[in-house]
Amino acid sequence: MKGGQLIVITGPSGVGKGTLVRALLVRHPEFYLSVSATTRAPRQGEVEGKDYYFLGREEFDRAIAADEWLEWAEYAGNYYGTPRLKVEEKVAQDKLVLLEIEVVGAQKIKETFPLALRFFILPPSMEELERRLRDRGTDSPEAIQRRLQRATEEMALRDEFDLQIVNDDLDLALDAIERAIEKRR
Ligand code: 5GP
Repeated sequence: MKGGQLIVITGPSGVGKGTLVRALLVRHPEFYLSVSATTRAPRQGEVEGKDYYFLGREEFDRAIAADEWLEWAEYAGNYYGTPRLKVEEKVAQDKLVLLEIEVVGAQKIKETFPLALRFFILPPSMEELERRLRDRGTDSPEAIQRRLQRATEEMALRDEFDLQIVNDDLDLALDAIERAIEKRR
């Protein structure tokens, strides 16, 4: 399995990856969205097993040692990982699998699954990204600064990805992603 059915949506935090993925699933309920694990504390309203699997650091490390993550990365002081078994099971069923992950993890996917189609989502501007992170209201001012700092580093890697999509108009961004997926299928 070289990962032809894997679709990776990456880009800086706050760029709207989650919104795009949810909208894509409304258009394509047959796609499977991988649920990641994280050591970050749940935010208000987040549901275990739906938004994330919330794990302790020890559990996360045990799964690293057991090679249970398809990819994992450290982000803003927490760990995030994609459960390998579930994704492989869905791909074996010929399902199209979506991963919504940060940039280092998305780079790693290329090594294991060279055929994965990887989208880098860009904000219209860095000012707009900061505004979105603030308006989201989920992170402290310090956390927002960490995320913006990381966003600048991530933006420098955007040329490594198959397609770059500016998330300005949601429907247009969605159309572009959908067209690229259909072309690949
Ligand atoms: P948040 O804390 O805002 O939910 O997520 C922080 C960042 O981690 C986001 O860019 C999100 O896409 C990314 N992320 C979520 N799950 C995973 C995962 O399984 N692997 C990697 N590498 N990044 C993830």
